[in-house]
Amino acid sequence: MSVASVIRADCVILGGGIAGLWARAALTAAGFGVVLITDQPLGAGQTVASQGILHRGLKYALSREAASAADALESAHRAWADALAGRGVVDLRAARVLSPCTYLWTRPGALSTLTAAAGALAMKSAVSRVEAPHRPEAFAGVPDRIGLWRVDEPCLDAASLVSALAAAHAGPVLVSADAAVARNGDGWAVSTPDYLIEARAVLFAAGAGNESLLRRVGLDPAPLTQRRPLRMTLARGAPFHLFGHCVKELSDKPRLTITSAEAAGDVIWYIGGDAAERGTGLAPEAHLRSVRDELAACLPWVRGESLRLAWFDIDRAEGRTTDGKRPDGPVLHAFESLAALWPTKLALAPAAADLALEWIRRALGAARDIPPAASAIRPIAPPPWERSDLTWS
Ligand SMILES: Cc1cc2nc3c(=O)[nH]c(=O)nc-3n(C[C@H](O)[C@H](O)[C@H](O)COP(=O)(O)OP(=O)(O)OC[C@H]3O[C@@H](n4cnc5c(N)ncnc54)[C@H](O)[C@@H]3O)c2cc1C
Repeated sequence: MSVASVIRADCVILGGGIAGLWARAALTAAGFGVVLITDQPLGAGQTVASQGILHRGLKYALSREAASAADALESAHRAWADALAGRGVVDLRAARVLSPCTYLWTRPGALSTLTAAAGALAMKSAVSRVEAPHRPEAFAGVPDRIGLWRVDEPCLDAASLVSALAAAHAGPVLVSADAAVARNGDGWAVSTPDYLIEARAVLFAAGAGNESLLRRVGLDPAPLTQRRPLRMTLARGAPFHLFGHCVKELSDKPRLTITSAEAAGDVIWYIGGDAAERGTGLAPEAHLRSVRDELAACLPWVRGESLRLAWFDIDRAEGRTTDGKRPDGPVLHAFESLAALWPTKLALAPAAADLALEWIRRALGAARDIPPAASAIRPIAPPPWERSDLTWS
């Protein structure tokens, strides 16, 4: 095969979502030479589809088993605060903060209030109760028996986050649909139609794509990774912006998690939570009916008849756990100079990058091969409400 250019690098990262981009910035800041290859516009896959909430662990504080997940999120929170303020290895001042906080609200009823209060108590500093006169527009005039808490977890616009990360002064970003990865002496040869990259280490950070990459180098992905499906819903024509979770009685899962965006003059609610997990088992019409019912139950003060709904399916790709549930933190599986990484959550991307840095220092010792630095101004994947395959009804 003829290749136009040969590049030498300490590490090739495959995957241009939050995990690959944050690891690229962190490894470069530590002096390693990195080339990132991705197969689609940056952020495609889970990252631009995410709801952009930098969870502090409230959902997890509601279940005692998940305390270590809450700890991991709390420490990643400090890295995000630094990044959003332009301090630290990643400068995210250009990322758009859609809301500085989310809200946790209950439905009328003692159990619902008790569940929310228990979570708020466990979170202490990050959660505060919001009484009637101070309620935001979305909850103005809502009866007092609907409890409301403010949670100090911001919500980011995922596309602007990807764009800010891509602008880091780091190595080249290449777009290639099927980069080949092969052993090359002690290191690796990664080839695209235009480039051959001779690398000392390779990091798979390709989300669901890690499965086929692992197979390509002769590793069985089954014991390493899992997928958990979601059916996300969009509601067009919403009456106000809303960022938050409606509490599910005695559960650590919100009934609905709603974030908001604007497109063509419409406010769009982007709806996840338990409704998205249960929706995967339903016929599309039944799913949309159930989301309408959930909206009516969780937001009884909103007239939902005029909302137009659309849905799409997407898998969460993560490190495998024995019980198939969400891992508590990011997961990295290392095979000497090759590793596969899953951040588990957008919010845990800084912790995932720390794992990648520990691994590469162990695998390579010092940096040696530094390709030219380049700011990656590449196409960014469109947000979910701009998908061309949506049907609104
Ligand atoms: C609907 C939804 C909502 C979510 N909401 C939140 C939230 O509010 N807060 C939160 O903290 N987390 C959230 N998450 C989780 C979070 O989005 C993911 O944990 C995170 O985005 C995973 O990032 P990633 O980089 O590992 O994978 P991805 O974002 O999927 O990126 C992988 C990239 O690799 C590329 N790729 C695939 N195969 C190859 C290949 N062979 N070669 C090169 N490149 C390849 C893909 O095109 C893709 O761009 C949500 C997830 C989903 C699905």
